[in-house]
Amino acid sequence: LGFEAFKLNRQLLEAIGEAGYAHPTAIQEKAIPLALAGHDVLGIAQTGTGKTAAYVLPILMKVKYAQGLHARALILAPTRELVMQIEEVTKQLATYTDLRVVSLYGGLGPKTQIETIQAGVDIIISTPGRFLDIYRKNMLYTKALKTMVLDEADKMMDMGFMPQIRSILEVIPVKRQNLLFSATFGTRIEKLAHEFLEFPERVEV
Ligand code: AMP
Repeated sequence: LGFEAFKLNRQLLEAIGEAGYAHPTAIQEKAIPLALAGHDVLGIAQTGTGKTAAYVLPILMKVKYAQGLHARALILAPTRELVMQIEEVTKQLATYTDLRVVSLYGGLGPKTQIETIQAGVDIIISTPGRFLDIYRKNMLYTKALKTMVLDEADKMMDMGFMPQIRSILEVIPVKRQNLLFSATFGTRIEKLAHEFLEFPERVEV
């Protein structure tokens, strides 16, 4: 089966075709219908499995059109490199939408990133630290967020990002959809899922 089997819109199917994705990967096959149905999802999948598109496509369906000034989806990832990779996939898949995608990470001053946010944004992709820095400067309105992704959650735990992630969760709406992806599954991730997800559907590849 192709991507037409999912209830994606024409803009997304067009971009998927142009990206050269002929068929959904295993994780996409399992996670996309659940995420589109609004479930919280715990996805166990490694890099190279197509996990990014597995959560980005449902987000692009849900956010759909540029609207107002404030972000409605937040994707958190452990490193600047991963944030940039996710940004690339998201922008490619969002080609035929008008959605505004912004990535935030350290290593350079926040001024340009803040200016971009202030101009209006729909989807933010960020490292936890930089997101909090900008939030604490009062430059990020978080109350319009409806979807949150934690990508490479196991790596974020390894890198000691849990305090930052908890701080972020305290300032975003309680009522939201959560998508948590991890390369590994074990007690730690199970606990994390229990803490952050509501009746999650677990998918594994
Ligand atoms: P990821 O696991 O998200 O890092 O994705 C690994 C690579 O697979 C990326 O370069 C994607 O562009 C590509 N990709 C994702 N989904 C598909 C698909 N359904 N068919 C072919 N390539 C894909």
